[in-house]
Amino acid sequence: MSTTETTHEPSAGRVPHVDYLVLDNGDPYLVANECTSCGARFFDRRNACAACFATEFRVVPIATAGTVTAFTIVAFAAPGIPVPFVAAVVDCNGTSVKGNIINVEPDPANISTGMTVRLATFSLGIDDNGVEAIGYGFEPAG
Ligand SMILES: [Zn+2]
Repeated sequence: MSTTETTHEPSAGRVPHVDYLVLDNGDPYLVANECTSCGARFFDRRNACAACFATEFRVVPIATAGTVTAFTIVAFAAPGIPVPFVAAVVDCNGTSVKGNIINVEPDPANISTGMTVRLATFSLGIDDNGVEAIGYGFEPAG
């Protein structure tokens, strides 16, 4: 009897840093919990909708392209976190997503509200067992 099971395993040795980052075969994407009553979306697990108090949710994929609606260049952070970096809110086809702007110099000359970005992933490091943690951010799309 075979015990091999590969159907729903993530890519070998790669795990997403957050539960709402999906690394299945193909391009990575984010998912949100969407209230089936009012459509509000949340990236963390909720027992009830913060907008309407309903308790039913469905998992929906989030668009991987978006526009920057707000950003700040972070110059001070906890020890061990490289600075500066760009923290942003990105509108992904109507869903607000918090993420860092990556793959660009963290300089106000390079970033603006309204700029088009796309989801991008990067390695957060490899643990002692060879498992690579994958984080996400947004990079300029143009
Ligand atoms: Zn709701």
